[in-house]
Formats: sequence, C-alpha cells, structure tokens
Amino acid sequence: MIEINETHDQNLKSWIESANAPGTDFPIQNLPFCVFTRACTYENVRIGVAVGNFVLDVYACYESCLFDDESFAIAVTADNYCLDHSVMRKNTSVQSAFRRRLSEILSEKADENTRKSVQRNLIPIEEAQFYLPAHIGDYTDFYSSIFHATNVGSMFRPDAPLLPNYKYVPIGYHGRASSIVVSGTEITRPKGQNRTNPDAAPEFVPCRNLDYEMEVGFFVGKGNELGETISIEEAEDHIFGLCLVNDWSARDIQAWEYQPLGPFLAKNFATSVSPFVVTMEALAPFRASAFKRPEGDPQPLEYLYSEQNEKAGGFDINLEVYLQTQKMREENAEPFLLSRSNMKDLYWTIAQMLTHHASNGCNLQTGDLIATGTVSGESKEERGCLLELTWRGKEPLQLPNGETRRFLEDGDEIIMKGFCEREGFRRIGFGECRGVIAAAE
Ligand code: MN
Repeated sequence: MIEINETHDQNLKSWIESANAPGTDFPIQNLPFCVFTRACTYENVRIGVAVGNFVLDVYACYESCLFDDESFAIAVTADNYCLDHSVMRKNTSVQSAFRRRLSEILSEKADENTRKSVQRNLIPIEEAQFYLPAHIGDYTDFYSSIFHATNVGSMFRPDAPLLPNYKYVPIGYHGRASSIVVSGTEITRPKGQNRTNPDAAPEFVPCRNLDYEMEVGFFVGKGNELGETISIEEAEDHIFGLCLVNDWSARDIQAWEYQPLGPFLAKNFATSVSPFVVTMEALAPFRASAFKRPEGDPQPLEYLYSEQNEKAGGFDINLEVYLQTQKMREENAEPFLLSRSNMKDLYWTIAQMLTHHASNGCNLQTGDLIATGTVSGESKEERGCLLELTWRGKEPLQLPNGETRRFLEDGDEIIMKGFCEREGFRRIGFGECRGVIAAAE
C-alpha cells in the first residue's frame, strides 16, 4: 500500500506559479505522466510530466543532469520514448523515488540553478501535441458499475435486470487495442448492421444510436508471466496509474450483434483516452472503501477478497461528462453538463478486476489498458452514458439552446473530466478526454 508522504503535503508549492492556481488539475502534488512532442516540430515523442500550464520534458531534464540517481536513468533514457518502456515497468519503489525527485526540482524550495535547468525544459501545454501514453498491447473493458448493469439490464430484460453471475464474477470483454486513440482525435461514425424491423433483414448503414461511456482506465505496470496469477494483496503493485476512458458505443449495432458472444464491432471502432496518467501514488490521499455490499449480497470469493481491499480498494474520483454540439460551438455556448458520477460507486475494485483477469494464468503486460466499464451512480444525474440518460432514446435530453438529443449527432463533442478533492489535501485532476463525431464515410 502506498503511503501518504511529503509529496502530498497540501502546503507544498511550486516555483511555477500556474501550478499553485486553486483550480489547476496539475498542482505539484499530482505530477501525471504523458507522451508528447512540441507541436509543429519533427522531434521524437518524449515522456513528459504535467505541472500547472506546462509539460516538463523528462528526458531533457535527465540530460540536464537533474536526475543523478542511476535508477532514474533507467526510467528515462533516450530510447524510452514511451511510458511502457520506462517508468511504467519499474518497481513501485523506483517510481516513488522518481516522484520525490520531480517534486523536489519543482518545489519552491528548489535552488536557483535547479530552477534554471528545469525552466529550459518546460513546454507550454498548448504547444504540446499528445500521444497515447503507452504502446497498449491489450485492452480489456469491465462492467463494474452495478447501477449501469442494472439500468442496461432492465431495458433489455425487465424481468431479470441483473444476471445471476454479476455479484460473483467481475464481468468483462476483450476490447481492441489498435483503435484506442488519444483525446482530441476525431471519431468517425461507424457503419454496421442495423435491424430496425424484426421481420426484415438488417441493413448496412451508418450507426444511428451512437453513444459514449464514461469510464476510468488503468495501466498495467509490472506484468505477470503466462501461467502465473496475481493475488489480491499484490494487485496494486501491478498498477501504474489511472486515466479517463471514453468507450464509444454503437448501440444499434450492439443490440443486433451482442448475442451470444458479447460486444464486437459496436465497440472496437474507437476508444478515447486522456493523455495524462495519474499515478497510484498521486491518488493515495483519495482512496475509498470498496463498495458496501447490501445485506443479502454474497461476499467476494476468497481470491477476490482482502481486508485491505475492503478498507481502501476504491477511489474517490469525481467524473463529469459534457456535451457541446456544433450549434453550441457556433453560438459560443458553454458545454452542457450531462452527468456527474464517482468511481467509488463501482461494485468491483480495480485490484479485483486485475486479480480476476490473471486468475486463470492470463499474462498481463506492461502498458495493457484495463477499463472499469461505464461509471454510473444510483441517481439519474449519475448515469454515465446516453443509453441510460435517455433510456434507450425514449426520453430525449432537452439542451438549453432548444436542441434535443437521443444519441450523438455529427459535430457533437463529448468532454470528460475527472478530479479528486478531499479536506486536508490539494485538489488534483485528470485533464480532459475529448472527441468530436465526424459523419460516416
Ligand atoms: Mn464500456
């Protein structure tokens, strides 16, 4: 278990003024990792750390001799242009030491020489172009919100919304890694089989019920060998950090194709992720208990149970989804808040998801992305996708400018945000995960 230390001290300030702004997602207490280039240059991609309104070029700092410890050199050498080749695959002790060093050189206690060396390696965030944080070898998506599962189930199976396996087994499916894109990438409306008339053959047409899913993803740090398992007690040592995930979903294609093997083309045309990976250590102050199972629910099977996981396996992360339509952009209208939910309401913790994933000996590898599934809460305002918010399109949303939405239209942009707040600690955020829908080709 990662402990709270001086890098989390709420009174810690940076000599970079924008990192001390009360609303910033990236105060010195956060220090999320990313992969970037300076926009409009032909430089190689680099590892960065977000701080205030800047990205710190980690390799350039290494060249400036700011990381003299040998263990950091392994974390940031020149050919380590991606997190999965560097800090992501290190032991948590190295990751933690590296965080302390980053905190030192960015702290207002840093001396003048250090500041000068760091200053040269800061790039304004708006001048950076971001890439996927890792080479994602495999991608798995779970279904961990019991509220989402119950809502969706009751639309399709009103008599038995929740299947009998739900409270025993973390449900998931293998997604597609090749179509994961970084925030800001345009999403083309997919085409697929759609059967609106149950008595006729399906048509092959552009998706009519395009949706988003507000999810949280986590990157596998150290992996496990094929045939080995990962105990629930060790699970978090294999998790590097968290990001925001939008699991774009074609509901009409999904409804027709999902039986009997689950989602396929309805999900794999695109998945967006935020560029910043917030480390497990940065999140240490924002842990929560696992979901409090109501009386009558079974306890997790032994391999998915630990006292520590029950006590602090959850995360208190506020999640927000906004919609800005083409018309709203043209009218300079603010994005419209669609939902607010919280990761602490998930039925399964990420340690349980990871342990279950490897419980048959399946090897997880550094850089693999595992997502939670739609994070919905109990109330209507906490529904993390349009399928739930509009009840499969039956209750269209009324937008402030008079537009209505059942599902996403071309030109719509979905903006996801995440942040943590707790008395006695500095607020930290995840940045944004954005995507605009382009017309089908
Ligand atoms: Mn999903």
